[in-house]
Amino acid sequence: MSTRKRPPTKLAIGAYGFTVSRMSEEAARKAGVFGETDLHNQDVAINFGNTDQTVANTFLHEALHGVHWVSGLEDKPLEEEFTRQGANGICELFRRNPKAMAWWLATLDPKAAREFATALSAHLAA
Ligand SMILES: [Zn+2]
Repeated sequence: MSTRKRPPTKLAIGAYGFTVSRMSEEAARKAGVFGETDLHNQDVAINFGNTDQTVANTFLHEALHGVHWVSGLEDKPLEEEFTRQGANGICELFRRNPKAMAWWLATLDPKAAREFATALSAHLAA
């Protein structure tokens, strides 16, 4: 499975609807990043040219910047460090504990869990 297939185009964070856009290889290299979040225009730009694991981690990392922004934490000195470590930790949590995380999502929100299962099946079949 490749992350380059049908990546998401939208992301809901707090009360905001973010767009998910593609960051070119050139822009990513120039900025020295794998992705970036434009909080004021609510856009998450991802360089989908990296490995699947890097793209997945970057997507979560940028989404966490949005979560921190809607929580009022974006200007705190350690925000980037919390974001990096949080994304790394959550990626590993899901990758190493799929059954536990399925239980967690079903417990948190059964409707969201059903939508997740449907979307995941469609994504894996693509
Ligand atoms: Zn960051």
